[in-house]
Amino acid sequence: MIEKRIDELIKIINKASFEYYTNDNPSITDQEYDDYMDELIRLETNYPHLVRNDSPTLKIGGEVIDDFKKVTHQIPMMSLGDIFNYDQLDDFDLKVRKVVSNPEYVCELKIDGLSVSLVYEKGKLVRGATRGDGTIGEDITHNVKTIKNVPKSLPQDIDIEVRGEIYMPKASFNSLNEQRKKKGESEFANPRNAAAGSVRQLDSRIAAERKLATFIYHLPNYELYSLSTHYDSLKFMKDLTFCVNKEIKKCSSLKEVKDYIDYWTIHRNDLEYEIDGIVIKVNNYSEQKKLGYTAKVPKWAIAYKFPAEQVLTQLKDIEFCVGRTGKITPRAILNPVRVAGSTVSYATLHNEDYILSKDIKIGDIVSIRKAGDIIPEVVEVIKNRRTGDEKPFKMITNCPICGTKLIKKENEAAYFCPNDKCDARKIELLCHFASRDAMNIEGFGESVVDDFYNSGYLKNIIDFYHLKNYKDELMNKEGFGLKSINKLLDAIEESKNNSLEKLIFGLGIRHVGSKTATLLAQQFNTLDNLKKASYEDLCAISDIGTKIAKSVVEYFKDEDITEQLKQVGMNMNYLRPDYNLNELFQDKTFVLTGTLENMGRKEAQELIEQMGGKNTSSVSKNTDVVIVGSNPGSKLTKAQNLGITIWNEEEFERNVSNGNLE
Ligand code: NAD
Repeated sequence: MIEKRIDELIKIINKASFEYYTNDNPSITDQEYDDYMDELIRLETNYPHLVRNDSPTLKIGGEVIDDFKKVTHQIPMMSLGDIFNYDQLDDFDLKVRKVVSNPEYVCELKIDGLSVSLVYEKGKLVRGATRGDGTIGEDITHNVKTIKNVPKSLPQDIDIEVRGEIYMPKASFNSLNEQRKKKGESEFANPRNAAAGSVRQLDSRIAAERKLATFIYHLPNYELYSLSTHYDSLKFMKDLTFCVNKEIKKCSSLKEVKDYIDYWTIHRNDLEYEIDGIVIKVNNYSEQKKLGYTAKVPKWAIAYKFPAEQVLTQLKDIEFCVGRTGKITPRAILNPVRVAGSTVSYATLHNEDYILSKDIKIGDIVSIRKAGDIIPEVVEVIKNRRTGDEKPFKMITNCPICGTKLIKKENEAAYFCPNDKCDARKIELLCHFASRDAMNIEGFGESVVDDFYNSGYLKNIIDFYHLKNYKDELMNKEGFGLKSINKLLDAIEESKNNSLEKLIFGLGIRHVGSKTATLLAQQFNTLDNLKKASYEDLCAISDIGTKIAKSVVEYFKDEDITEQLKQVGMNMNYLRPDYNLNELFQDKTFVLTGTLENMGRKEAQELIEQMGGKNTSSVSKNTDVVIVGSNPGSKLTKAQNLGITIWNEEEFERNVSNGNLE
């Protein structure tokens, strides 16, 4: 079974490598390739006796085209190990520190091109070669000579080999693809493939037209020039008139490395060339030597790859969830993939119309992104990857939980389970009531609610507040004890002191989200006032539409749950927060994207509100500031395009403490 999967993965990876390295025309995305490689590495690590001699995990690059003269690299041209998040970066740092006590790192932009070796004899350029398989590369001297920023002669009569990246600037790439489109030729997938395709041409006029450039970042024979650090080599090569990237930075701590990554995650789009990550290298050569190499990569360097915002994966099946209002939502079960920094296994498909309009079939390869940076959704089906084995989607007619026939309401795309007593609906409502944004009763996640529901202790919201009467029984439940039950009961007691908006949201009134709940609480101050409000009263409030107004009036028409909640001592008043106004925040509109290191998203939003700012979820020209954490999504790009002020976490924290009015 495992052996078969290993064979399968090797076949897929070899085919993709050939298309990518030899034909410069990839058939799958880099992310898919990296995921297959990841899986293969994992299997080989767990089953070392199954590692094949010809495994692509041991090989660098691709095959060398016969059309070119072959070149042997005296010192192999290596690849780099990949990492995709800060946990893996911490691991890398730890491994380095096991060998080197206090490493200094050099951080560089990872230029998205192809590596090149340039050889000079007596200061004259004599050879340019591709990396090839690391040992044997292709002679591309004729093309390298057409690249403007490759010096043809050096200011010293020196023998030297330097290595770096040939890349195609964004502007050249865009105009090249435009021309190709006009001529009806296929477009290049990305600047990397365009650069590789241009350099591996027999006719040097083509490469000359393509406006390529280089950055030089490696000196293989540093000993010959008595250099002791990588950083000094960069300076040495710069003095020899090579184009060395100016954004390179020495970092004396991992924190500085992370700051560099954070900075370039935000600012990468400002560059005139594509980068696909950051390369982190140990600076000192004697320390590099101590760390050494694997068969394929140095152990003293690592490539942190930026998270992809939109990726491809297979939609394996479609399942149906029943929400607290009875709404049926189809969702896609996906082959797990990394999107914008986290692994995604499901994506919402909203409703039947959505699936039909996108022509989604089971088995399709689909492109996924996180809508608003949070909820994964299917963007489109990649139709040219269909094999004919895909199965058409069929909407269900009965509730998957209670079997009741589903209904469709007028003007609504969704189907509903009309059964108020449907277990799925009740469990969803209880989970919602206890959730963080609602009553924030810690400990009542889906599995605990499910358990308490099925054992009869929790059938209705009010039952939370009667659980203390069953303390002895609950303590004896499997998986619980005195301590855990006390914790749950304390959290329940605590929830009685919540401000009114949390209760309003927790009740699960249709169309009333947490923002609307806050608005209603601020407007009416007490639940009694809200209950007395007429449809007209509600419609008069800006931001409250007719749908919400109707739903609120209907909800309170014949409910008695809030009366029962009042009797158990629930606070029914809006507790106005103590504002601590801050001129940098007051009356400004904020959007958060990515993960903040020092506080949760909710906490940050509360802070913004306390200082007089407003949170919104999507970036528009009305947004004043976008706060960016690690692994930000497409909101960042949008903000950059609109020229909106961007703060990283450090700036956010600084502004919180700096701008107080008093
Ligand atoms: P890599 O691109 O992940 O990283 C190593 C390379 O980074 C080096 O060889 C060098 O060329 C480059 N680089 C750029 N800036 C650098 C700097 N400042 N310092 C040092 N090196 C720098 O590794 P790779 O072996 O060239 O390619 C593997 C990657 O290519 C895969 O992870 C995948 O993303 C992609 N790939 C995709 C497919 C596909 O079918 N889509 C197939 C094969 C490979």
